[in-house]
Amino acid sequence: MSDLKGKKALVTGAAGGIGAAVVRALRAQGALVAVADRDVSGVEAEAHLPGNLLEPAYADGLPAAAKAALGGLDIVVNNAGVITRGKVDETTDADWDLSLGVNVEAPFRICRAAIPLLPPGSAIVNVASCWGLRPGPGHAVYCMTKAAIASLTQCMGMDHAEKGIRINAVAPNEVNTPMLRTGFAKRGFDPDTAVAELGKTVPLGRIAEPEDIADVILFLASDASRYMVGAVVEVNGGKPVK
Ligand code: NAD
Repeated sequence: MSDLKGKKALVTGAAGGIGAAVVRALRAQGALVAVADRDVSGVEAEAHLPGNLLEPAYADGLPAAAKAALGGLDIVVNNAGVITRGKVDETTDADWDLSLGVNVEAPFRICRAAIPLLPPGSAIVNVASCWGLRPGPGHAVYCMTKAAIASLTQCMGMDHAEKGIRINAVAPNEVNTPMLRTGFAKRGFDPDTAVAELGKTVPLGRIAEPEDIADVILFLASDASRYMVGAVVEVNGGKPVK
């Protein structure tokens, strides 16, 4: 992926499991990276843009801020996300606002602001989920938000390809990140044991590590995927959600 050398990238959720792996992988390929998250003080990058994606002005301004800080913008990775658990009748207004705000509204705002700034040959990669394609039980609003970002990706892919901007998404199944591990801990399971047990349910014999997802994100951000538009790529170790 030598074409990533010197490319300028914005990554949201950059302090989290998958986001940090994407930042490391982009920088290892010679890209310059602006990192966005609530706290990015521990993330090595060329530009630091901390903030709360629930604030519309912050999300609206991120692409321009990244472009100004890096001297250009070629790649946007909308990776930040939150998971809320529960059936619809267990979902609070706060769960709804948080899930829609971070998982759908923020990437919508960032894409809307980025598209006029991105040159031909640029790419946006959104992070959906296998649960956005085939929902799992007990996470109704999370699944819906991931279906929404998958659909938005397909729509934007079609609509903006004529400007030479390719917009695609990854749809991971379970990934060994703080999101998954804190969920286990909240439910009273030891995260290491739970991750090992879950790995036995995957044909490849383990759940994904953040780097497994980051490598596919880099592929979608690079010219190696130059004919891919509006795709939602499942990365699941052979375990699609039934
Ligand atoms: P993570 O919790 O490690 O990272 C998510 C990051 O998003 C965190 O650093 C968090 O601070 C940031 N974020 C959340 N709300 C924010 C806000 N309001 N403002 C700014 N930043 C905010 O989780 P992860 O597993 O690395 O998740 C990354 C993406 O992958 C998410 O979109 C998630 O839905 C998706 N995903 C994860 C899994 C999995 O099993 N871990 C599976 C499928 C999809």
